[in-house]
Amino acid sequence: MLNGIGSMAWLGAATLFILSLRGLSHPASARRGNIYGVAGMVIAVLATLLVTGGAGLQIVLVAAVVGGAIGTVLAKRVAMTQMPQLVAVLHSFVGLAATLISVSNYVSRDTSMAGVERVIHDTEIYVGAFIGTVTFSGSIIAFLKLQGTLSGKPLALPARHLLNAVVFGACVVLGYRFVSTPAGENGLYALLVMCVLAAALGVHLVMAIGGADMPVVVSMLNSYSGWAAAATGFMLDNDLLVTTGALVGSSGAILSYIMCRAMNRSFVSVILGGFGASTSTGSAAPQGEVVPTTVDEVGSLLRDASEVVIVPGYGMAVAQAQGTISEITRRLRAAGVRVRFAIHPVAGRLPGHMNVLLAEAKVPYDIVLEMDEINDEFTETDVVLVIGANDIVNPGAQEDASSPIAGMPVLEVWKARTVVVSKRSMATGYAGVDNPLFYKDNTRMLFGDAKGSVDALLRQLEAACAGRHCQLG
Ligand code: NDP
Repeated sequence: MLNGIGSMAWLGAATLFILSLRGLSHPASARRGNIYGVAGMVIAVLATLLVTGGAGLQIVLVAAVVGGAIGTVLAKRVAMTQMPQLVAVLHSFVGLAATLISVSNYVSRDTSMAGVERVIHDTEIYVGAFIGTVTFSGSIIAFLKLQGTLSGKPLALPARHLLNAVVFGACVVLGYRFVSTPAGENGLYALLVMCVLAAALGVHLVMAIGGADMPVVVSMLNSYSGWAAAATGFMLDNDLLVTTGALVGSSGAILSYIMCRAMNRSFVSVILGGFGASTSTGSAAPQGEVVPTTVDEVGSLLRDASEVVIVPGYGMAVAQAQGTISEITRRLRAAGVRVRFAIHPVAGRLPGHMNVLLAEAKVPYDIVLEMDEINDEFTETDVVLVIGANDIVNPGAQEDASSPIAGMPVLEVWKARTVVVSKRSMATGYAGVDNPLFYKDNTRMLFGDAKGSVDALLRQLEAACAGRHCQLG
């Protein structure tokens, strides 16, 4: 009876998780998606407690209260710009949990289990621990790279692919020894040695990824964390964990594949730690003159324009300039200027970063376009306003084969009549590559913090209207 109710509840929870993923696929339905996810998780935890007859209830309650409190404090404190690091840390928790559960499951195993049943169970333990440990160590490195503690440059050890292959091969051999350990003997040694090797593999795989490819790695680690949870589900004979893990694993893999296509990168290459990717760390310094501009000049460019495209990047998130940008957009549109936003798939520091910020600032969804939708239209654009973006508008990706970001599709903003770039200095972006856009004849650099610049721009637009007949606003 209890098992029947538990199964029904798990089915309900799994359905809510699917609805949650569907909701999270669009900013308009993301809040609803979150609520479905929370409801699914509450049902899943209650159903699990019901099925297990409340075993370990006190520990679960203490863990839920302590974990919930830490999660609430973290979520409230973490700035939007630190979200990718938080996501990487959360992936590492999933990986660590899978490893610890696998090891503890083996230590407290049912020694009467024999034959095929035992082989399958031990394989589940081994695979769960392997994926969990790679996810754990890889996510820690991703966290350190996103935090800026470790350099974003790829680590190119000599014979690195051979090294990965040897370590992976050693894990397979150890796995065979582990699974074929006679019933009376302890295979814990093989399991733990594999964990050390898998941790080294995770570190090396992510250290070898550099430049602008980190977003794909973060979503791959998301996928790995799902598969680690699914393997744990098989081991614990928990259908809900298998389903949920598979949902996370497959959605993460699909997202990684979509991002690889958007970045013109090979999916296999990224999984194998940059196999076949360029490890070049630099290209020739751009030539030309940098032309600074002023808020007044940008204001009159915008007022005179009929087609404006705004390209937001990581710097807009750092400066929290999206609210003012939204207000500028509203005023320009009221004055008859056609304003649209161009979103690169890896703008910012996490997938959908810019969409979330613009939605938060109430920019209408229908003027926010993806790269493929708008890239052909820059030739018809009077002014492009680049706010704190760099790598995603770097023409070097198309023009310089030796560039670390060569081949990555970018927003072709330089084709517009005038490009205004708002940033603080000539510093490079995440990929650490100089940007020839800043030296083009039709580019104007608006130096300063993006929030300060766009606040001044808004005041300028308001002042230009004051005292005379003006439709702005
Ligand atoms: P970039 O990191 O290329 O450039 C951001 C620019 O913002 C910097 O050059 C910086 O210049 C400027 N900036 C920083 N703070 C401010 C500020 N307060 N005001 C004004 N400007 C500021 O960002 P993009 O969005 O163009 O590209 C994203 C990069 O991040 C890509 O390389 C991508 O691969 C990578 N990435 C993306 C992830 C994702 O999932 N989206 C995850 C991990 C990495 P200055 O210092 O001169 O102001």
